[in-house]
Amino acid sequence: MYCIIQSKLPYQTKISFMETENQSIHPNQIFQIAKAKATENVFFKKHLRGYSSAEIDPLVAKLYQVFSAKIDCTTCANCCSHLEPGIDESDIERLAFTKNMDPIDFKRAHVAFDGDALFLVAKPCLFLEDKQCSVYADRPLSCAAYPHLEQANFKYKRNVWSNYLVCPIVFEVIESLKKELNFNGQ
Ligand code: SF4
Ligand code: SF4
Repeated sequence: MYCIIQSKLPYQTKISFMETENQSIHPNQIFQIAKAKATENVFFKKHLRGYSSAEIDPLVAKLYQVFSAKIDCTTCANCCSHLEPGIDESDIERLAFTKNMDPIDFKRAHVAFDGDALFLVAKPCLFLEDKQCSVYADRPLSCAAYPHLEQANFKYKRNVWSNYLVCPIVFEVIESLKKELNFNGQ
């Protein structure tokens, strides 16, 4: 399972993957490129231990602002295509309403429990249409918070590293963080 969101800033402020020459990593290439950095990232995680959250979190927040403004989620939709968002009962009520369904019927049809939390079943997401969220105003809270880079204690968050394989924003933030921290690859 796991958590998503669509674009957070007005579309016209963003740069499309298809239109810019100085582009960020392409959504179709991220998995392979990110996976190839697995060993380097083991060393980077060790490197991060040398810094406090008070030092790291503001840097991550700054980089997140830069790359969430630069990257156009509407030309990506990797999260909505490859992950399954966590949801709660209030999310279920809103989403059921958008489908004119009773929440209990919606839950039976579209929700599963992994032993820890409820999540929306389907890859790609049943609400994804032409790389955009068709229920944007009613999307689950976990979607709205994705990719979760504004949470405290970045260096302890394990989901950062699974999202690094999927989300161009997370990938670019981490690669830039390596430069900011003068990480030399080992
Ligand atoms: S509900 Fe919307 S934002 Fe969430 S995964 Fe589905 S399409 Fe994406
Ligand atoms: S994977 Fe990241 S860049 Fe792509 S749509 Fe989701 S939040 Fe936006």
